[in-house]
Amino acid sequence: MSHSATPVADAPHSPPKPERIYLSPPHLGGAERRFVAEAFDSNWVAPLGPNVDGFERDLEAYTGAAHAAALSSGTAALHLALILLGVGPGDEVLCSSFTFSASANPILYQGATPVFIESEADTWNMSPEHLERALAERAAQGRAPKAVILVHLYGMPAKMREIMALCERYGVPVIEDAAEALGSTYEGRALGTFGAMGVLSFNGNKIITTSGGGALLSDSEAWIREARFLATQARDPAPHYQHSKVGYNYRLSNVCAGIGRGQMEVLDARVAARRANYERYRAFFAPYPGVTLLEEPAGMVSNRWLTCALFDPERTGGVTREDVRLALERHNIEARPLWKPLHLQPVFERYLYYGDGLSERLFDLGLCLPSGSSLDDAAFARITDVLQKTLPTP
Ligand SMILES: *Cc1c(COP(=O)(O)O)cnc(C)c1O
Repeated sequence: MSHSATPVADAPHSPPKPERIYLSPPHLGGAERRFVAEAFDSNWVAPLGPNVDGFERDLEAYTGAAHAAALSSGTAALHLALILLGVGPGDEVLCSSFTFSASANPILYQGATPVFIESEADTWNMSPEHLERALAERAAQGRAPKAVILVHLYGMPAKMREIMALCERYGVPVIEDAAEALGSTYEGRALGTFGAMGVLSFNGNKIITTSGGGALLSDSEAWIREARFLATQARDPAPHYQHSKVGYNYRLSNVCAGIGRGQMEVLDARVAARRANYERYRAFFAPYPGVTLLEEPAGMVSNRWLTCALFDPERTGGVTREDVRLALERHNIEARPLWKPLHLQPVFERYLYYGDGLSERLFDLGLCLPSGSSLDDAAFARITDVLQKTLPTP
């Protein structure tokens, strides 16, 4: 990584700013260019084509899902999953509260009602206890939910055994939001393949990227066929444009899919690099009593998309996560608070919430640290230098 930043012309006395370290920047491997070039050389830049088909086969082979549809975003995949499950106005959909807003927005696109479920402390994902309480209470009130959106946050698997058993008992289909979790496994099986459908994202900040894109996974061929149909404007078979359903423009372009095919070749290396980041942070923080990282429970493998640390000011001599964030920012290093729980967001706060406030505490204490797969030793040294100066000597 070069440090060639030049002094800013209108601030002659300030030292040159070091190059910015981003939270999770894209990291190309090299093969992307070959697949994109093929699309150009064959004039197949649009709409669908061999890269889309190839990318879908790659995703199926990697995850073990029987079928995959490459789409324009993870949000589009979530939206189509809700449509395929028949979610509409008046229906309730249970959803993890501790997540990015895109997990829940499609519930509102469908005019349905989200009900937010709190996390548990072992994985920071949906708590089986709170889920069970919600399922029992909603069913007792004659409001059996139409679906559960289960998120694997920061790449950490949720407690699948307990959650799938509950949802099967109550007959509620699960949509796994594995947008952050490609490369993670639960008892050896890829996330996104446990529920009725799984969702992946290839946004620029995710573990691999297509510049922007997503995918819907399922073992049901009929659902994935219908997803591709709805995602290409729901055109009925006819020489003219004939439509009997509302369609969407949600397919991935053949150029973006080419980037994805190249990224699939380096996915395992990207997971290894992110996991190594986590181990480096863990070793660094080990002597600091007030700083904790999320451990991997038995049977779970996280892709460690982002390394997140909790700073408990009662044990860090008063240093808060915001102190740490601002100190890093002063050195041009990007760090972000953990997701603000959806039940506290203005757009969602009027909906029901089952929980005990755990995610609010995680939001208050937690910071996502630079976690890119291209984070090199020099960048890591800059980060730990700031952390060392900000936290009291252990
Ligand atoms: C990124 C993300 C999404 C949305 O994916 P896009 O491809 O950006 O639409 C959904 N859920 C979670 C948890 C995410 O992190």
